[in-house]
Amino acid sequence: MAMWNPWRGCKKCSEGCLHCYIHKGDAKRNVDTNKIIRTKDFDKPTIRLKNGNYKMKAGIVYTCFSTDFLIEEADEWRGECWKMIKERQDCTFLFLTKRIERFMQCIPDDWNDGYENVVVCCTIENQKNADCKLGIFCKLPIKHKCITAQPLLEHISIEKYLDNVELVVVGGESDYKARPLDYSWVLDIRE
Ligand code: SF4
Repeated sequence: MAMWNPWRGCKKCSEGCLHCYIHKGDAKRNVDTNKIIRTKDFDKPTIRLKNGNYKMKAGIVYTCFSTDFLIEEADEWRGECWKMIKERQDCTFLFLTKRIERFMQCIPDDWNDGYENVVVCCTIENQKNADCKLGIFCKLPIKHKCITAQPLLEHISIEKYLDNVELVVVGGESDYKARPLDYSWVLDIRE
């Protein structure tokens, strides 16, 4: 398992972002989260050791966990990332996004029906966003799909969007002022 953050920073874009842990962590260090910048790890997947092997080991790569892979400000950089992802067929790249509506304008020319080594997790938190975002997500050409309902803010129904979805993750919010999660909402999703 590896982490890869080719850029950092993010902008709040939905109800679920209210207590974003990236913004909270940055605020403590006086870092402006709204500024999206490339990191020194940009090329991480393709860096090689002296013996020619990749430095980053094969396996799952948690991608953009301190940003959003589909954020507008990274449009000029994402093409290079797709090339690295394609090169590393021994890795599975998993990213979450709250910007699934941008997906089709963010994919490479040879995407076709999806790269086998990419897992896309669409994040939702309420029924409004479930209907809007999952309505888009369920039609997208992606080989491996997950739904992340976190922070779940109300009872939601997502049954009609579950075709070809491999995993649904549900979670609450972590903050002193966290909005409550009713456990019955979680059980309903499991059912
Ligand atoms: S999209 Fe995710 S990382 Fe970006 S502000 Fe919202 S919660 Fe934070």
